[in-house]
Amino acid sequence: MSAEIRLAGLVLALLAGLPVGAAAQSNIVIVNTNAAGVGFNDTTPATPVAGNPGTTLGAQRLFVFQKAAEQWGRLLNSAVDIRVQAQMAAQTCGAGGTVLGSAGPIALASNFPGAPRIDTAYHIAHANALAGQDLAPGQNDINTTFNVSLDSGCSPNITGWWYGTDPTVPVPAGRLALLPVVFHELGHGLGFSAQTNLANGSYFSSSPPVWTSHLYDLETAKHWRSMSNAERVASAVNDPDLVWSGDETNRHTSRFLSGEPAVIVTAPGNLAGAYGPVQTASFGPPLPAQGLSGTLAAAEPALACAPLTNPAAVAGRVALVDRGTCTFVEKVAFAQQAGAIAVLVANNEPSGLPGMGGASGDIVIPSLGISQALGASLRTALPAPGVELTLGIPPGAPLAGTRQGCMRMFAPNPVQQGSSVSHFTSDAFPNLLMEPALTGSIFDRVDLTLELFRDIGWSTNRDEILLYGSFDPAPCAISPLP
Ligand SMILES: [Zn+2]
Repeated sequence: MSAEIRLAGLVLALLAGLPVGAAAQSNIVIVNTNAAGVGFNDTTPATPVAGNPGTTLGAQRLFVFQKAAEQWGRLLNSAVDIRVQAQMAAQTCGAGGTVLGSAGPIALASNFPGAPRIDTAYHIAHANALAGQDLAPGQNDINTTFNVSLDSGCSPNITGWWYGTDPTVPVPAGRLALLPVVFHELGHGLGFSAQTNLANGSYFSSSPPVWTSHLYDLETAKHWRSMSNAERVASAVNDPDLVWSGDETNRHTSRFLSGEPAVIVTAPGNLAGAYGPVQTASFGPPLPAQGLSGTLAAAEPALACAPLTNPAAVAGRVALVDRGTCTFVEKVAFAQQAGAIAVLVANNEPSGLPGMGGASGDIVIPSLGISQALGASLRTALPAPGVELTLGIPPGAPLAGTRQGCMRMFAPNPVQQGSSVSHFTSDAFPNLLMEPALTGSIFDRVDLTLELFRDIGWSTNRDEILLYGSFDPAPCAISPLP
């Protein structure tokens, strides 16, 4: 069979923490495409910071990239160099949303020597690894861009990238760590993307991408590979029924996910109980493992789009605010300024939950989105007799981000081009590296992504592999297509 190599059209955008060890299992070569003086070549002097010895801005950026590349190089096995074409350039940035970075494979290949599945397209870096030879000699394998404008303060609440690489040094307020963003984006380029046009359901290759043998719709009981184009378009927004079929991923979910968080009301008695689901935020710290308990206080004004007028009532308490008018980050920032220890954002429409998206390095308290009904119910007990609650995980809760034992994929409605389907669900808790928005809790770990890579055929290398067999049988009954 002759090898088929095609250009890939998709780059995946990331809107909005990896230790380092033994000899490389693959060699990831960074091909710096920035012009002299800009991006990775910026000669602005810089002071070495948190594990990063670079003395210019460009050198520090490149050092972070090299760290992320070395980390993937240790985790994935390939005899063929993986060539990553990289640049820092201006990307979408501002109050309407900020793209941190984007990446995708430069080509896809199918029916190459050693291909595990026939008539199935693989990211070129993966295909090279499987073939044991460079299927596209002289060509780069992954294209990736990071938003250089972040360093000029283009995004609200973010003053710039953090170029530290030492995971023991906290990321300073106002900064966003570049390392996990590079690590995430390289994940897309190495194999973590569906390579399907979500507007019309067609593939970016003449053969179905390997992902379509694993993307499964619980409602229609079909894999994407068995669907028509129109069925794939519908399935891409069929949350929460779009799941991953693959034993490696599904039998390891319990290692990385905990039960679904909820609002657990302990008083007054007539409201007592666990209320879920809730939406965790893409910014600020995660809930502490033991949960966070406190007394509820209604913020004034309820929208919390300006400094609160009742800080004495909110200080030391969980603030209840309403969705609307300003961003989630702004609401939580005003509540934090008033001394709140956490924030509940009640929805302003009857169905669903507030999205709780956004990015900020200044938020140091956790926040959750709750339903409009729960918000109204809690307000009936404010200010008297008062509400005592815990934000945490009720005993026996199902693993957050799973359905019928299968890992859910990101399938919001409406679709998010370049993001939907090619990430784990944003409902995963604790957060995972390959969720659509990175949170501060991700710095230096790869979590469930490596298991997914094994599902699609990557040879991986990690100490935990030695622990295999000690985990439950796959809790998901769906097997991937051969
Ligand atoms: Zn992404």
